[in-house]
Amino acid sequence: MFIKNYPLSKVTSLGVGGPADLFIKPASAGEVAYTQRFAADNNLPLTIIGYGTNLIIRDGGIRGIVMQIAEPLARAKVEGRVLTAQAGCLLGSLSKLALQHHLSGLEFAVGIPGSLGGAAFMNAGAYGGEIGPLIKRVQFVQNGTVGSWSRDEFHFSYRSSRLQKEQDKTIVTEVELELAPGQKKDIRQKMDAFQSQRKSKQPLEYPSAGSTFKRPPGHYVGPLIEQAGLKGLRIGGAEVSAKHAGFIIKTGEAKARDFLDLIAKIQEIILQEFGVELEPEIRILGED
Ligand SMILES: Cc1cc2nc3c(=O)[nH]c(=O)nc-3n(C[C@H](O)[C@H](O)[C@H](O)COP(=O)(O)OP(=O)(O)OC[C@H]3O[C@@H](n4cnc5c(N)ncnc54)[C@H](O)[C@@H]3O)c2cc1C
Repeated sequence: MFIKNYPLSKVTSLGVGGPADLFIKPASAGEVAYTQRFAADNNLPLTIIGYGTNLIIRDGGIRGIVMQIAEPLARAKVEGRVLTAQAGCLLGSLSKLALQHHLSGLEFAVGIPGSLGGAAFMNAGAYGGEIGPLIKRVQFVQNGTVGSWSRDEFHFSYRSSRLQKEQDKTIVTEVELELAPGQKKDIRQKMDAFQSQRKSKQPLEYPSAGSTFKRPPGHYVGPLIEQAGLKGLRIGGAEVSAKHAGFIIKTGEAKARDFLDLIAKIQEIILQEFGVELEPEIRILGED
């Protein structure tokens, strides 16, 4: 069932962005395929989102259909060392499920707030781990029908995967992850350590969309921005976090435009000062 004029600020961690003309949250791969065919038959653009934790949606919103792959598509099971999960599962819950089954590999994911589908798209990672190498098989919907890729067909690299070249055309519905047997206490210890590292270093008390930029070769983003004296720089309600300069946080009322202007300003200054081009890790969708 489509909802008209749905405010996308409700489904993004930053809480900014205009409306979707039509919004739908499918509950099965069949409904995903149906929606994709419906969009094609009616010549409507189709945009896919997960939990919106890596997104800035522009203030004018998104034309056509926005399909959110989220909690109705969130069943998961473990057989041996293979964890099979629908794309709307939260990464943090899957990390805990792996722990319950004494399986190691997903510890890095415990504090990443997005979906498995979004993580596959972004090849999400942290603390030396990433989702790509764990993937055994990705099930997706393309041209209104269900297909699958093996890990080798998935072509992942740092914060990138084949899905990014096929944005909105290939919709992940389920992923099989191959994990390694481990000791429950070691797995838990790793997860706890990652969580406390996150809490001490990241501005989790404010809305954000995670790291703003990808790590440029040979540099770290946070220190570059800090050295340029940009911590605390603010445009409207968007501010470079004083706790971790790699994050832009929302402080009070903000528009998507504030974030986009601040990103452009940081890019300009870092290029001038250090000759380094910063590429956004955050995905920017919609129209002004
Ligand atoms: C506080 C905080 C900390 C974070 N820490 C990390 C971190 O340590 N490491 C890291 O990598 N990321 C991190 N992130 C970013 C983000 O959580 C991840 O990239 C996450 O995997 C995105 O998932 P999502 O469901 O929110 O996707 P969204 O943000 O909704 O979408 C991201 C992209 O994925 C595509 N997409 C989503 N679902 C699907 C699907 N089912 N099929 C096809 N395409 C899809 C969308 O089209 C979009 O282009 C952090 C974010 C926050 C707010």
